[in-house]
Amino acid sequence: MTSNDFWLTNLVTPSGERTAMNVAAGRIVGYGTPPAGTTVIDANGRLLLPSLIEGHVHLDKVLWGTPWPGYRSGTTVKERIAREKAYRTSLSTPVETRGALLVEAEIAFGTGHMRTHVDIDTDWGLSNLEAVLKIRERYAAQIDIQIVAFPQSGILASPGTADLLDAALREGADLIGGLDPAYIDGDPKGSLDIVFALAEKHGKGVDIHLHEGGPLGLFELDLIAERTSALGLGGKVTVSHAYCLGDAAPDALAATAETLARSGVSIMTSAPEQSMPPLRPLWAAGVTVFCGNDNIRDTWSPFGTGDLLERANIAARQQNLVSDAELHAALNLITGATAQVMGLEGYGLAPGDRADFVLVDAPAVPETIASPPRNRVVYKAGKLVAGTL
Ligand SMILES: [Zn+2]
Repeated sequence: MTSNDFWLTNLVTPSGERTAMNVAAGRIVGYGTPPAGTTVIDANGRLLLPSLIEGHVHLDKVLWGTPWPGYRSGTTVKERIAREKAYRTSLSTPVETRGALLVEAEIAFGTGHMRTHVDIDTDWGLSNLEAVLKIRERYAAQIDIQIVAFPQSGILASPGTADLLDAALREGADLIGGLDPAYIDGDPKGSLDIVFALAEKHGKGVDIHLHEGGPLGLFELDLIAERTSALGLGGKVTVSHAYCLGDAAPDALAATAETLARSGVSIMTSAPEQSMPPLRPLWAAGVTVFCGNDNIRDTWSPFGTGDLLERANIAARQQNLVSDAELHAALNLITGATAQVMGLEGYGLAPGDRADFVLVDAPAVPETIASPPRNRVVYKAGKLVAGTL
């Protein structure tokens, strides 16, 4: 269908301009009118979006390709961690198969970049990392995948895990993760010191799961910001979830938001119903916030499809983002903001950017968030990877 150098005609840009786009050698060349004799593909009035970006997912946890697991609620996080490990250990369907199903679904929805966490502890060793590295290699032409070495069982709580995280960063993980340094590890400063020492040693970024609420969570955000500034890691550190921001009183929220913005710590949210970090005050303070699907059909959650437009829709509903400008900002949660956090070079729709984009059946950006269109036509590096025109 596509050659190396072609024009997509009759498309609508995010700013609402009807035009044609020239793609060559995997890059966007420019916009305008195609000259005679060139290869032309009619986009039939579809809306052009940059590739969607999955900011937080767990390719090793997804249970697609296995029987419905059944769900219970009301247990503690530590019990759920133990239950998950026992369940996954019993499965005969490997991560390579389960995770690939999710990757393929995300590609079809228009995801061109992804950050996945992989569980690393003394029981798993590096097996989940090795499986996800194989998935990354297998789908390299369709999606770029960042990997976070995630200590799901804790670091101090699981002696030997720090060495495994060190090994993971040597063997292909792109970032160092962390998990509730008080609740899981019982020593916020000690746990975070290990995480940041590994980041410094390997020159890598950080992405920490922080579920702890209230003043303790805010205190831990301060500790993370302090270490980020001390190591000059501004722009490379993310806190995922940060429910404490959703619990905080306005004054405390404002103070912490200012600290996060100053130190360059970004916030990832999956837009949960309870304790979602409030977007407007964080944006006003200059904090970068982005979205991810997080748990999809795993032992933690029965929900999710892998569609990031659906995730942005959920975020917009939770935060009552309704104006056109706010719905554009909701799209930014799964595009520009995430690209900035992930340090993606050549991301976007400007001339010279990588030709990673998705065409959707919608007249304008706000509608893609308000009622995500089903049909997607997906390009990666100028090649059609999903859907048909
Ligand atoms: Zn997660």
